Amino acid sequence: LDGNMKNSIKLFRVFGISVEMHISFLILPILFWLSMGVKGVVLILGVFVCVTLHELCHALQAKKFGIRVDTIILLPIGGVASMGSIPDKPYQEFRIAIAGPLFNIILAAILYYPAYRFLGPDIFFSMNLTTWLHVISYLYWLNILLAVFNLLPAFPMDGGRILRALLARVMTLQKATRIAVSFGYLFIFLFVAWGIMTGNIWLLIIAFFVYISATQEASHVEITETLKRLRVRDILPNGYLSVGPDTKLSKVLEMIFHSHQEDFPVLDSGTLVGIVTRANIISAIHQFGVEKTVNDIMIKDFPSAGPLDSLTKIHKLMEESGLRAIPIME
Ligand code: ZN
Repeated sequence: LDGNMKNSIKLFRVFGISVEMHISFLILPILFWLSMGVKGVVLILGVFVCVTLHELCHALQAKKFGIRVDTIILLPIGGVASMGSIPDKPYQEFRIAIAGPLFNIILAAILYYPAYRFLGPDIFFSMNLTTWLHVISYLYWLNILLAVFNLLPAFPMDGGRILRALLARVMTLQKATRIAVSFGYLFIFLFVAWGIMTGNIWLLIIAFFVYISATQEASHVEITETLKRLRVRDILPNGYLSVGPDTKLSKVLEMIFHSHQEDFPVLDSGTLVGIVTRANIISAIHQFGVEKTVNDIMIKDFPSAGPLDSLTKIHKLMEESGLRAIPIME
């Protein structure tokens, strides 16, 4: 699930992060007010604070590693901190992922004492909001639930990220992601089955959310890891045609028709002096006719790369220059 969700209300900014609430979150205070009265509304505000702090713990840990976090969006099923990138190092992902649940465990431990002091062993059983103190016992349980639920190894939930980070210590990120995503799918199946059996709609919504984000992130990792691993020389074509500065445009046009090549390096006694592309040949012929030479129209300002450069770099050069071919120099 990415951070560009529409229909969210901006609440406040903290540490340079904009905290937003999805409008569907608004349904919760109304539901709780109807079923539990004012205490229900206070309780949901408490839930709101706990979820926000959980996400902020992730975000602050990420910022510590130089990862940009623009927004935290609160959804009825939990929060999402949208990060600018995936952490490079497994231990960074581990620490970012564990920060959220760790906060809930600490808060539960803190809430335990006042709740136990005033309500006694009752806090373990009483699930009705009879007194204000019961709000505390509810929040105690909520934090335990948040910690346990988020620690389930269902990628991309926190527990799934922790699993991936641990796996990535002994295998590639790609393989670790595949295994973590498989666990994610297993839990999606369990959530759906359990949700249908108990009629719990939240579980179905969570399963849907996990499914969408697991699939998205898995394919992102596949693409970036593949591009990172491949070098230019792995995919370089064996033979290519080149032209000289005094080649006539009519000749180049013929070469375009008779080969699958559309962009040509211009070599002047073995030295690369420019490139011509199909688009600039065709527009030059339109303008000046076929009698001009390559020298008149070639692009002289172009980027180049080496055979050991990664495809990620080539992709970036292509985007920056607008060219569809980049000359590779030994
Ligand atoms: Zn979390």
